[in-house]
Amino acid sequence: MNFLSLIEAKREGKILAAEQIQQAIAAYTAGTVPDYQMAAMLMAIYFQKLNTAETTALTLAMRDSGDVLKFPKDKRPIVDKHSTGGIGDKVSLPLAPLLACLGFRVPMISGRGLGITGGTLDKLDSIPGYKTLLPAARISELVQKVGCVICGQTDTMVPADKKIYALRDASGTVPSIQLITASILSKKLAESLGALVLDVKFGCAAFMQTKADAQKLAKAMVTLGNQCGVNTRAVLTDMNTPLGRAAGNWLEVKESVDCLDGNGPDDLRQLVIVFAAHLLLQTGKAKSLAAAQKQAMECLDSGAPRAKWDEMIVAQGADLSAFNKTLMRDSTAPVVIDLQSARAGFVSKCDARIIGEVIRDIGGGRLTKESRINFDVGVDRMAKPGERVEKGGVLCRVHLADGSDAKAVLARLGSAFEVTAKRRAPAPLILEVIR
Ligand code: URA
Repeated sequence: MNFLSLIEAKREGKILAAEQIQQAIAAYTAGTVPDYQMAAMLMAIYFQKLNTAETTALTLAMRDSGDVLKFPKDKRPIVDKHSTGGIGDKVSLPLAPLLACLGFRVPMISGRGLGITGGTLDKLDSIPGYKTLLPAARISELVQKVGCVICGQTDTMVPADKKIYALRDASGTVPSIQLITASILSKKLAESLGALVLDVKFGCAAFMQTKADAQKLAKAMVTLGNQCGVNTRAVLTDMNTPLGRAAGNWLEVKESVDCLDGNGPDDLRQLVIVFAAHLLLQTGKAKSLAAAQKQAMECLDSGAPRAKWDEMIVAQGADLSAFNKTLMRDSTAPVVIDLQSARAGFVSKCDARIIGEVIRDIGGGRLTKESRINFDVGVDRMAKPGERVEKGGVLCRVHLADGSDAKAVLARLGSAFEVTAKRRAPAPLILEVIR
């Protein structure tokens, strides 16, 4: 294979054949194509794009660059949910045990925080003893036994994406719909799924800031997922406002357990039920969305997913008694301060981007690849758009490692909220379902 001629062909907008793409990915994964040539190819793709056949070939070649999870035959369908990322987005945590209780197998391979958006693995790392790195054979074994696993990608799963993603990050080629599609779906296809539901977020704190871009990405991923044999749907959801009332790693685990206990915030519960319901429909386990939602709600309220959560975290090494003790604490951070409203009125804005940036900067996220995360910091008791707040009432609480910067942090958080005399109806959480 002459990689230079492939770069030149793509630069001129020519269509690459599936075998050429397979050879290119295999060669790059094996280290025989240098980073500078692959970076040039990625930039050519960024400008000239890939058609559906090329994107399919790229996705499958990336999936086949490493191990694909294998599961024995079983009547429980293998399913997963993937989110493009947001602030306070903890849906995966209550959803995985709920799906297991609904009769699915869930090998949920998750990621770390990207930019200001939180990562499921970072949240789970705040649980004493919980292991997110499991070998492929152990993932399959636990999925068979428990019904759900939430863990990270192993070293041998989709290595092509690991290399290409790092290169995209360093070469300005991340925001390409075809490259994002191939990156996300190659990892999901390596889970050997029967059905997948995608949470494609739009808004100020999302990867896709506009509805139009989110729709484009969702359509591309749904088309390709289905073409690769996985029943795939996407739900477009709002990420202008954080999800739930808590954001920050440990605080999100705590709120997820509240959701499983039936005391969680409404928006989180709504998304957990909707994603479970779509998967019930996609796999023929329910006849209508309304019936599926009822089934998911009854299961969630039965308490079985809460018990399944304990079973899952123990199977992944968690110290349950230390976990339960920590859950009893109001906060694990040394300093907790209320942000008070300067006026009475209605919350008309709770800006997810500002809140995400503040949480990252107080230690809850990464500023560099080497940054160490502080699991205890974050924001909770957030007032949400449409809610009444009195003068001096709490807009949110901030959990800090120390109080030295508290004044500046409160000022930044204050700029995330708008309180108006008139109530404005909050934007709908779910915009559209793409089948
Ligand atoms: N998440 C991924 O895994 N890949 C992308 O390209 C973007 C988000």
